[in-house]
Amino acid sequence: MSESANFDFIYDPIKEKMRETISHISYITYIEKLKPVDVDGRYIVLETPNENFAQYITGTLAEKMREAIIKADVGVSDFRLVVEGSGEYAYNAPAEENYAPPSNLDKKYTFDSFVVGKNNEFVYAAARNVAEDPAGTYNPLFIYGGTGLGKTHLMQAIANKIVAEKPNLKVIYVTCEQFVNEIIDTMFTGRGPDARDRGNKLRQHYRSADVLIIDDIQFIANKKAVQEEFFHTFNELVSKGKQIVISSDQPPKELTALEERLKTRFSGGLVFDILPPNFETKIAILKRKAFEKKCIVPDEVLTFLAQDSGDDVRTLEGRLTKVIFASKLHEVPITVSLAASALNEAVSEDGKEEITPDSIINAVCSYYRVTKGDLVGKCKKKELVQPRQICCYLMCELLSLPLMAIGKALGNRNHTTILYSRNKVEDLCQVNDRLAKDIDDIKNIVLKK
Ligand code: ADP
Ligand code: MG
Repeated sequence: MSESANFDFIYDPIKEKMRETISHISYITYIEKLKPVDVDGRYIVLETPNENFAQYITGTLAEKMREAIIKADVGVSDFRLVVEGSGEYAYNAPAEENYAPPSNLDKKYTFDSFVVGKNNEFVYAAARNVAEDPAGTYNPLFIYGGTGLGKTHLMQAIANKIVAEKPNLKVIYVTCEQFVNEIIDTMFTGRGPDARDRGNKLRQHYRSADVLIIDDIQFIANKKAVQEEFFHTFNELVSKGKQIVISSDQPPKELTALEERLKTRFSGGLVFDILPPNFETKIAILKRKAFEKKCIVPDEVLTFLAQDSGDDVRTLEGRLTKVIFASKLHEVPITVSLAASALNEAVSEDGKEEITPDSIINAVCSYYRVTKGDLVGKCKKKELVQPRQICCYLMCELLSLPLMAIGKALGNRNHTTILYSRNKVEDLCQVNDRLAKDIDDIKNIVLKK
């Protein structure tokens, strides 16, 4: 403990908050007499003149004190008391709010299930290193690359591994979209002490992370207040030696709608890109995915699927899913000709009914009891938005139509909206079993099973 350091600049704002909440007499008798002597992690250490004094604070004022500390927002979140002349803590704050490991992780995103190729070997090594040694060499870690190239997979693999192997570390994985929404919610839902408290709690939640993983940081673009908040969280965590992992669809310097100081911070970390896989890696990925789906897919079909599949692994995986699905639907083995027809048209043979945009729209409408007009319409009510997104997703899954054509069939929507909805539902399914089951049921309606 340092004798000479002066911690008044931290304690003064806390005192101010205490003054607002307790009686004047308690304030001058106790709070004013405490001396801030150290900062120990997230604790401010306060010295009391004697044991009785410490007991009184512990028994009567501790809760208020902790609230005041959070409200003061001075970079600490709790306190410890030490009696003058003794080196021992007289009051040890209880352990951190019960920390439950994140529930938004998909267990199947692991390092083992990630296929390493020339396109991603460095970023893979960096991500592994972070998972094995958080806040070690690679901090902050910034991963960028085009959509569907495995960023989320790697970020969640880091989180899954740390959660499994280092349970005492607080891991937070959050999509930037969620982060933005949470911050905006606390900013705009009401004012007054309650709203402020919620803001402080949220801040405290993120700032108490040992490992903070934010996916798709590009969503923060143009949102000044959120960038401001994130900037402080970022700085605080880095200064406390905590691990930060960020992903984005572009390198930091190209995130044009981002404040300069954030770009500088990101560029100051370790920046790795994920490139599109080459042909061999695509085959290896397809093999791995077929294995996960417990399907045997002949090599020539894998080759066929990897050819002309574009860059994105999500699309590649989608091609495989479609073919496996067609094989189940027609109850025929997976061959190149089946694959060719499954990817070119969605017409079923053998007198089975055709799957068309309309048959999918009808199935979704009947499942959610909404009218076709509402489903393809523009109304943004929650009861309509999700069925609409599910409809997009199913159309992408079950039909071999370009996104533009799907958009057209679904009330003349833009192809980026379709892509967004598809990805969103895909992501949701991974964390929401209920939704995944609903979607399966709707598929069965489409297939008249
Ligand atoms: P991004 O976040 O970059 O848009 P995702 O991580 O969501 O991409 O990846 C899309 C899909 O592709 C996921 O199902 C993921 O498991 C898969 N994927 C991407 N790259 C790989 C890889 N190298 N090995 C295995 N699966 C991969
Ligand atoms: Mg992603």
